[in-house]
Parts: sequence; C-alpha cells; structure tokens
Amino acid sequence: MRKKTAEEWEQVRIPKGLLNNIKDFLESNQAKELGYTSASQVAVDAIRELLIQHNPQMRHFNIQDNIIRVVDIKIDNNLLIEIFHKNNLLRCSYCEKVDCEHIKFLWEDPNLVKEFKKLGLKPPV
Ligand SMILES: [Zn+2]
Repeated sequence: MRKKTAEEWEQVRIPKGLLNNIKDFLESNQAKELGYTSASQVAVDAIRELLIQHNPQMRHFNIQDNIIRVVDIKIDNNLLIEIFHKNNLLRCSYCEKVDCEHIKFLWEDPNLVKEFKKLGLKPPV
C-alpha cells in the first residue's frame, strides 16, 4: 500500500479503554498473522468494514472464474456488473476502466483485498 502522508490523515478520538483493547489485540498471534502493526490499521479496517456493511449502494458477489460481480443500485438493481482481472489489474466491463468506483469499492473490502493480494492484483493508483 502507498504510504500515506501526514496531510492525508485526520484524528478521531476514541475511548482509552478501546485503544487498550486494540493494543492487546496487536499483541496477539492473530493480529500478527493478519499483518497488523499499528492501532491505526486496526481502527481503519474496523471502520471500513462497518461502512461496507451499511453501504446500500453497492454489493459484490463471489469471485468465480476470474470474474467478480457487482450490483450498483445507482445503475440498475438487477444488473450484474462484471469485473475481470487481467495483467494484475481489475477491469470493469461496465465502465471499461481499471479505476472506476466499482473497482475502488472492491478494494475497500479487507476480505477481498486479501484475495486480490493472493492473486497478485494491484490496486488502482
Ligand atoms: Zn465500473
């Protein structure tokens, strides 16, 4: 992942007890296996996951035969938009782009990101 510069970050206050819980988690083998090294990473992923759960705009389906299917209710609730991966990049068949909002949406899902990394895919720049 590209290193974020200081200007790209904002502060959010969380209770000390919660931060201590995150620090305890960081000490665990599970956190190490998942590659977490800072409280910020844990907080960002947790918040992102919550936002995805409550984002009604887009949903994705399984990865199958190199195709990921996305529904974007802004376009059509019944249309499955197909995203292919080729040459280490995802390509949206609807937008005919490698960096559209559908692809960015997929890269926001930590579970998909793990799959993408296994497949050697690169995020849009
Ligand atoms: Zn698209």
